[in-house]
Amino acid sequence: STEEPWRPFNRSRVYMADLESTLHYSLRVELAAHTVIRGNALVSLKKYISVLTKYFPGRPVVMNLLRSVDSWLQNQSGGEITYEALRKILDNSAQSPDTALPEGVRWVGCQGSQPHLRRFPCGMWTLFHVLTVQAKSTSPRGTDPKEVLSAMRNYVRSFFGCRPCAEHFENMARESMVEVDSTSSAVLWLWSRHNRVNNRIAACVLNSRGQKDTRAFMCLLPRHLNTIQPTAFIHPSSLSSSVRVAVFPSFHSQSPGTHIIRLTSALSEDPNFPKIQWPSPEMCSACHTVRDNREHKWNKEQVLPFLMSYFSSSRILTDYLE
Ligand code: FAD
Repeated sequence: STEEPWRPFNRSRVYMADLESTLHYSLRVELAAHTVIRGNALVSLKKYISVLTKYFPGRPVVMNLLRSVDSWLQNQSGGEITYEALRKILDNSAQSPDTALPEGVRWVGCQGSQPHLRRFPCGMWTLFHVLTVQAKSTSPRGTDPKEVLSAMRNYVRSFFGCRPCAEHFENMARESMVEVDSTSSAVLWLWSRHNRVNNRIAACVLNSRGQKDTRAFMCLLPRHLNTIQPTAFIHPSSLSSSVRVAVFPSFHSQSPGTHIIRLTSALSEDPNFPKIQWPSPEMCSACHTVRDNREHKWNKEQVLPFLMSYFSSSRILTDYLE
């Protein structure tokens, strides 16, 4: 709830409380929107739970719950299940003391400054990264390198509540997931697609030279927001070096001169957690290389071990767990 006190946390660590909150939200809230689950959605659900059972680095009680849901699902030979029946498994299992997924959410690293910011989508990304990293470090040779990515892709397509996000993610997957041919490239694929999303929805830092800036306009109207009417008009006199605008403006500045404006997508960016190309140079300087011509390039040989360590199960913090 919004009244919860802010939980201090380390911004460069992963928290189990976020991962468990994500599982709670996914299994008890997001799936609950589907009264009956059948066809492709049922296949997606089975794969999702099976991948979680294999790779989620959870506490024993949570793993027991996942295993019990997994074996129940694998035994469902009919073409459909009701959410109610699944919910019974989630709740019945919880009656045994060694099997439980904590009720409710307790966001830590994914806390947002507003109820609609961060939280579940942040938890979902974190969970997906952790799973690709776990698959790389634990799955035996010969395992399908796309196992985790395919399961995620199908979950997102069938269930992820943000439908424009799901559509966008599906487009990226269709475009380039075939290139993934190892568990390492799966880790890197997810990292680079996440950065694409960050880039797409980032606050735009624009340089206006007194005329309509088409680059600005493209930046301000991401494809999935094209139904939002550009309404705000920013007069240069109202521009300071940093302006936050709640609606996407049609940007014409009337007088010449250069104004740096910072426009934030009020829909998805938490001002305290600006979208960046991640990891920042502060987090991993070796991940970044800048060529003579000042062009930025990622050093993937450094990015991969960075991700393997950042999302590794042994570094996940257990603060704030019940
Ligand atoms: P998030 O982007 O959620 O990231 C969570 C954490 O992961 C960060 O705090 C950081 O520690 C780490 N991180 C950041 N970048 C990377 C990276 N490249 N690799 C590894 N770790 C990283 N919102 C939209 O508005 N439009 C969309 O199209 C859209 N598509 C989405 C698709 C999916 C599959 C998901 C899960 C979410 C999508 N969202 C989309 C939501 C959006 O990406 C963010 O999750 C949300 O805005 C919350 O942002 P955040 O600041 O908590 O950081």
